[in-house]
Amino acid sequence: MSTATSTGTADATGTEPVEEFRLRARAWLAENLPPAADTPAGNIDDDVWLRARVLQGRIHAGGFAGICFPKEYGGLGLGPDHQHAFNEEAAGYELPIVLNVPSVAICAATILDLGTEEQKKQYLPGIISGRDVWCQLLSEPGGGSDLAGVITKSERNGEDWTINGSKVWSSAAYAADYGLCLTRSNWDVPKHSGLTMFILPLKAPGVTVHRIKLVNGANEFCQVFFDDVRLPAGNVVGAVDDGWATASQQLFHERNAMGGGSPYVSGPRFSKAAHGPNLLELARETGQLGDTSVRDQLADVRIMQVVSKQLVRRIGSAIATGELTPQASSILRLFEAERTWTEYDAAFRIAGANAVAGPSLQDPGHGQAGLRYLSRQAGSLGGGSTEIARNIISERVLGMPREAAADRGVAFKDVKRGGA
Ligand SMILES: Cc1cc2nc3c(=O)[nH]c(=O)nc-3n(C[C@H](O)[C@H](O)[C@H](O)COP(=O)(O)OP(=O)(O)OC[C@H]3O[C@@H](n4cnc5c(N)ncnc54)[C@H](O)[C@@H]3O)c2cc1C
Repeated sequence: MSTATSTGTADATGTEPVEEFRLRARAWLAENLPPAADTPAGNIDDDVWLRARVLQGRIHAGGFAGICFPKEYGGLGLGPDHQHAFNEEAAGYELPIVLNVPSVAICAATILDLGTEEQKKQYLPGIISGRDVWCQLLSEPGGGSDLAGVITKSERNGEDWTINGSKVWSSAAYAADYGLCLTRSNWDVPKHSGLTMFILPLKAPGVTVHRIKLVNGANEFCQVFFDDVRLPAGNVVGAVDDGWATASQQLFHERNAMGGGSPYVSGPRFSKAAHGPNLLELARETGQLGDTSVRDQLADVRIMQVVSKQLVRRIGSAIATGELTPQASSILRLFEAERTWTEYDAAFRIAGANAVAGPSLQDPGHGQAGLRYLSRQAGSLGGGSTEIARNIISERVLGMPREAAADRGVAFKDVKRGGA
């Protein structure tokens, strides 16, 4: 197994041409990564995370990790076209895709944008190499879509901060080393102005992680409790009381990643491992290939995939050139949710009764179609709900009037909350 890190031929700017990079990636992948296996839904567990760290370490040693991250922070300093070429070549191989969201494409991207030089040097190489896994500590038991309403409290004590409160729906917090944690640092100002974002080590004294079992058997969601957790001032990301700016950038990366527009996501989007049963195979196996309604559903899924690919390119380049605001990433996030529903619903219908009462839940066609159906709404909630995406598109992209808010301009301590 080779771990050689050839840099190929550089062009006049010192950058390896995309096509040479692609050929090098093709050869390296064939020699170093096993073919992708079917990954049963709801089956992300400790061994999956351990395996992901090992694979990411291998990709890092081979010189293909962090393609769009700057070299000084452990990346390759290349562009989205290089990442795109790698993703195309990587289809069909086993990849550590669980590390993409939120660890690399959201948390590392946010640190890259808003972290201090010290934070970037300290944390990014660990994420890119797969040594460290990160999670998001945003949502709270008392509020979901209104992220600016968080009540987990951060208080300054000399050089340190003390954190108290709780977060929920924290994907894979049990497997994470660090989290980006949004807290309320100032209760005397309106809700968006009194927030501070922290880097929070999950193994710090005072942190307790509880796992939550879902209807599809998965238990990667966690509730995380903070009891007098002490953090140094150097763990603040962005400015004190300006955590909304950090959260907004983080949410931009989340919507972009969820929508398929992030240059930091490594690996193919429509792979078997990432997206479950091949619907064409399922229709053939169940003898329904001649059924016109099944054919219509297969066509709908295919159309959504093709449109999604084009939409990602179109919106991505419009955001990059400034033609569209970064808030337009909500269009990608919304469309991706619609695409997921179309695909999961079609799989469920084609699998028929076997999706519920079939021989095995692990069966990549039938049982998996049933399991994925149970979690299909995750695609329209995780990363912010599609209703909120619609609000953002109407208010921030199309310039329509803002939704009424009773708490606008009111000091957070005076805002009525849950029974107050
Ligand atoms: C798969 C998945 C992964 C997740 N991972 C994480 C994670 O790692 N870290 C983390 O912190 N959180 C995570 N979450 C939580 C997620 O971000 C929240 O679930 C989401 O923000 C919505 O919050 P809620 O479910 O509490 O819905 P609520 O806020 O209770 O809203 C209920 C419904 O009302 C709608 N609604 C609310 N306000 C408005 C409004 N003003 N206009 C229109 N509609 C409105 C919502 O859109 C939603 O459909 C995850 C959730 C899922 C499903």
